Amino acid sequence: MSEDNPWRISGQLSPYQVRYFQQVLVVHANSPTTGVCPVCGVPRCDTWVGAYDALALAGEPMADPSRWGGGSDPAR
Ligand SMILES: [Zn+2]
Repeated sequence: MSEDNPWRISGQLSPYQVRYFQQVLVVHANSPTTGVCPVCGVPRCDTWVGAYDALALAGEPMADPSRWGGGSDPAR
């Protein structure tokens, strides 16, 4: 399992990692009503920041518009 850990980053992100981190940004985004991550209960939680940094570092888009609207099927 640990070999497939998407948080293990070596410079470039695999398509799987890009998709995973984009999903993380959606799931851990601050709620517009509470202003905090609905999962972690804090604003800009570590998980969100980590995914954001990973995408930014790799120069990947924060979201793939073509994947939006396809429901919320997690990690697959
Ligand atoms: Zn969170």
